[in-house]
Amino acid sequence: MSPRLGARPLPRQPVFPEHFCEYLSTVGLVHLLKAFQRQGKAMEKRSRTCQSCGMPMSEDEHLGTEANGTLSKDYCVYCYRDGAFTEPEITIDEMAKRCGAIMSQLYDIPVKNAERFAREQISCLKRWAGKEVAFCGSCGMPLLRDEDAGTEADRTRSTAYCTYCYQNGRFTEPDLTREQAIGKYAPMMAKNLDIPLEKAQEMVRQYLSTLPRWQE
Ligand SMILES: [Zn+2]
Ligand SMILES: [Zn+2]
Repeated sequence: MSPRLGARPLPRQPVFPEHFCEYLSTVGLVHLLKAFQRQGKAMEKRSRTCQSCGMPMSEDEHLGTEANGTLSKDYCVYCYRDGAFTEPEITIDEMAKRCGAIMSQLYDIPVKNAERFAREQISCLKRWAGKEVAFCGSCGMPLLRDEDAGTEADRTRSTAYCTYCYQNGRFTEPDLTREQAIGKYAPMMAKNLDIPLEKAQEMVRQYLSTLPRWQE
């Protein structure tokens, strides 16, 4: 499920099925999860996500390139090369449709639901939102508004976790394990997307593994 992109030479054209296999692991639970958040131990590690398509970029070879050859901080190698988007004209709806089609196939999600979900996720990325929106490192909720962010012990806003997961410098559910989180979120995901529970569990498991709180 997590193809090593660096294992073979890059194709001239983006190969979206593989690309979006990886993308899927980042697809957020987001709004569905708003009502439910939890906690654990704070970790400093933060995963970077392509700000065009949402693909997690865990290795340098996933990163796009600037015109001067340096690695991009914001975009993946499929979306961005030599300082320019590989598909400058693509619209958010087209991107959502493409992501949605693959999600639909992999997780048995009805196409319309998959496209809607993909669009929600993508709309929070820098390329489409106009600015980078931080995501909660515990549940993946986008921290769109000030009040979405959790609070540190000194009452300042957290830049890493949402208000449902993190308050006064602590996780609201510090003992929650990843498996428990999956057990909690998967039924919501299954209902929201109208997919089988097992598929939802698979999706949630992959998704959580991309978030700092749940990385081993
Ligand atoms: Zn990308
Ligand atoms: Zn959260």
